[in-house]
Amino acid sequence: MSNLPADASHALEERFRLLLEASPAGVILVDREARILLINQRVESWFGYSRDELIGQFIEVLVPDSVRPHHIPLRDGYLRAPTVRPIGSNRDLHARRKDGSEFPCDISLHPLPQKDDDDLQVMVHIVDITERKRLEAERRQQESHRRLRFMIDNLPAGAVYVSDQTIAANRATEGITGYSRQELRTIENWFTQLFGDRAAEVQAQYNADRALRFPATRTLEIIRKDGQRRWIEHAAYGDDQHEVWLLHDVTERIRAQYQVVQGERLAAIGEMMTALAHESRNALQRSQACLEMLEVDLESQPEALDLVRRAQRAVDELQRLYEEVREYAAPLRLELQESNLRELWMEVWSNLAPSIGTKQIAFHDDCPFVPAASVDRHRFCQVLRNVLENSIAALPSAGGIVSVTSLDARLHGKPALQIAIRDNGSGMSAEQRARLFEPFFTTKARGTGLGMPIARRIMEAHRGEIELGPAESGTEILLRLPMATT
Ligand code: ADP
Ligand code: MG
Repeated sequence: MSNLPADASHALEERFRLLLEASPAGVILVDREARILLINQRVESWFGYSRDELIGQFIEVLVPDSVRPHHIPLRDGYLRAPTVRPIGSNRDLHARRKDGSEFPCDISLHPLPQKDDDDLQVMVHIVDITERKRLEAERRQQESHRRLRFMIDNLPAGAVYVSDQTIAANRATEGITGYSRQELRTIENWFTQLFGDRAAEVQAQYNADRALRFPATRTLEIIRKDGQRRWIEHAAYGDDQHEVWLLHDVTERIRAQYQVVQGERLAAIGEMMTALAHESRNALQRSQACLEMLEVDLESQPEALDLVRRAQRAVDELQRLYEEVREYAAPLRLELQESNLRELWMEVWSNLAPSIGTKQIAFHDDCPFVPAASVDRHRFCQVLRNVLENSIAALPSAGGIVSVTSLDARLHGKPALQIAIRDNGSGMSAEQRARLFEPFFTTKARGTGLGMPIARRIMEAHRGEIELGPAESGTEILLRLPMATT
């Protein structure tokens, strides 16, 4: 520069200064002793020092207190053999402001060529990376949220996060319950939708468990959105603010256990009944024969005759009970045949005329199509008869409506046919609904309480199911049969 005219040299210096001030980086010039010779405006504002305070100071004034002792030998080493390089490329660097606070930064060193070693000057470039670090941390956090979400959403078990009365459910939970996350958003919705009449009771148990920090896993019966009842295992973990629930659908397991128990029970009942029936048959036949003889003798005595007839009816009932119990307990062997189900229920209905008696019953069979399925006709007719007989019995003497409809449905995730049999009769109390399929449960003076258990056994032998539908008045029975998949 020295051979430029003074004016030109001055202009160049001025431009150099403007360039320095315009730089987005902080620029510090130090001499070979590591003393600060020059800084730009950015250094002043980032570090909070004025130019006068920094000029002449050792560079260490800008180094965090904890690093300062190591810095001196490092910079001495560098100043003996300076090269252009970034520093701290494998660790996070920080700079110290005047007030002692620190900020993350990138630093690179540029030795300026000099004629003489003693004139060595090094330009230090420093960039405040607080904002970049913040964005990086934010991005990392978003990414880890995204991964966590993905993991929870794709968990094969139902997972639910609960906080402040709101619920976030994963995809498997939607599958288990049939409800969308939106529909399950609050604790309130959860209990009322999944537990129907029992919502208050189940919620009270949940609150009690919660107070004890969930000591046990619960097995609960839920009502899916499509009306199906399923069993879920519900495990909860949490504290006062956050909770996680894990849900497993254990319906198949419970069903299998029930079938084993039921099978054993039935085998025992069957054996007992066979023995009992054998012993009793003769006795019953003898009483029947005696009663018939008496009937002839007593023709002229109407009161005595009435007693005989009552005794005969009692013997008949006893015989019917034996037959039903045997039917219920005997092994089922099905002869499956592709059948037009509509024909079957029309036939069953017309054979029920004696039970209908004088009741005025409108029988609707509203089917958009003729349902066909592979069933054991005799057994399936028995199911229809047992269900329809109950409907007839539930209607008042004035009569009412019985309807049969069928539609496509799903059973254990496979295509199925669902037949709904409805009546607008007396309906059932909650206790009756709960005990409907229990053997020997009856509310009728002459009932056996085996009609529905037998129907269930036959439906299960068909790999189908029978259950109570969600009727608001009267009763609805749902029969589901698997459809042959071709
Ligand atoms: P039973 O008919 O011999 O009593 P079921 O197993 O067929 O035995 O039925 C058990 C009980 O369920 C009946 O006694 C009755 O209380 C109730 N029930 C069944 N179906 C209906 C219905 N459609 N409407 C009202 N109650 C019903
Ligand atoms: Mg019945």
